[in-house]
Amino acid sequence: MDTQALRAADRAHVWHPFTQMRGWQSEDAPIIERGEGSLLFDTDGNAYIDGVSSLWCNVLGHRQPKIDAAVRAQLDKVAHTTMLGLSHPSAIELAQRLVGIAPRGLSRVFFSDNGSTAAEVALKMAFQHFQHSGRPQRDQFVCLRMSYHGDTLGSVSVGGIDLFHTLFRPLLFDAHMAEPGDAADMARILDEHGDRIAAVIMEPLVQGAAGMLVHPPGYLRAVRELCDRHGVLLICDEVATGFGRTGTMFACQQEGVTPDLMCVAKGLTGGYLPLAATLATEEVYRSFLGEFSEFKTFFHGHTYTGNPLACAAALATLDVLESDRVIEGLAAKIDLLGTLLAEHVAPLPAVGEIRHRGFMTGIELAGFPYEERAGHRVTLAARERGAIIRPLGDVVVLMPPLSIADDELRRLVAITGESIAAVTSSGGMTADRRAGGRPALAARR
Ligand SMILES: *Cc1c(COP(=O)(O)O)cnc(C)c1O
Repeated sequence: MDTQALRAADRAHVWHPFTQMRGWQSEDAPIIERGEGSLLFDTDGNAYIDGVSSLWCNVLGHRQPKIDAAVRAQLDKVAHTTMLGLSHPSAIELAQRLVGIAPRGLSRVFFSDNGSTAAEVALKMAFQHFQHSGRPQRDQFVCLRMSYHGDTLGSVSVGGIDLFHTLFRPLLFDAHMAEPGDAADMARILDEHGDRIAAVIMEPLVQGAAGMLVHPPGYLRAVRELCDRHGVLLICDEVATGFGRTGTMFACQQEGVTPDLMCVAKGLTGGYLPLAATLATEEVYRSFLGEFSEFKTFFHGHTYTGNPLACAAALATLDVLESDRVIEGLAAKIDLLGTLLAEHVAPLPAVGEIRHRGFMTGIELAGFPYEERAGHRVTLAARERGAIIRPLGDVVVLMPPLSIADDELRRLVAITGESIAAVTSSGGMTADRRAGGRPALAARR
């Protein structure tokens, strides 16, 4: 099929995620045919820098030779077998490797398929843990305002983004909502309800979907201590922050925190295949052990859990992260990103706060009415200039693969600056700038 035929068939049959399909019909979004390193190519042969790592998951670029080879080699053995009652070498080795790089104390790995299921699994594990431990009254959760843990109903119940979550309220369980970055607020909730709480769930250091909200230093550490004081489990959702995105392998490690449960997904397979894992401490794991008749089994498991092709991609990703010393080399690139943002983006009149931590970057376009879709229009302008980005409302997100070359990073940030300037200075946009309308959290690297 040529591009026109593909586009017509797409419009006729494909329902895209997080997309108003009426608007989609009038836009000629690129149809991506192949990728190479940090670049994506559409069916018309146009090249684009993958400025958001194909929705935050690509780590080492597209068509990474070692990951390609690992998936092919696994394909020559078996594409899928079940983890229900059986095991396979790639999952076993991957579990061992994950425990080796995770914060010390996490020793058990439960596989699933995506970030939402990793969060569901953590919530259910925390709940069931207390059912088995003689504290069944601990059946509530605390989450952060503006938090995002996925789109399934359990993960939405601990979600704090009104636009995505409010509609579904009647279907959800209640959760206490703490002010992000405010340890005193967390202390207040735990003082009041501590003996009823099973777990606090949070994205460590950076709340991605909230628009890259960066917590003040020490907040994660403080929440860990509060959880310990109140006998509450801490679930860290590293789905977005994991695998180097904030500058260390996991964000938790920057504050020396070991959560009781840790969710990983997105970058786990280098962005190749769907796979997730929920890591648990020995203490949580042990509470599920018993005679079959005690019904302490964790009755949860997805058909494609621990898929061998995905595990092979994950193992190769960890191999390359290690052999190429990718994490060790990040600091220089993060500095370059900061310099480029200061040069090309910060001086623009339409830009409010720029929040970035490691490779996670949120550029706030200040004071545009929601309906004007300033962020979306910047995306379209960037596309014309050769970069794929996707905003969160009026926050322009940049989150390139860790492997992006310096010159590609320069081009990406330059295109972003040019696109913001083009969209926000053109007559079509009424810049109804609000004075001092800055979000509560401070910009921090
Ligand atoms: C993306 C994301 C999820 C959901 O992951 P999916 O694979 O899209 O289900 C969960 N938590 C965080 C922090 C995320 O960024």
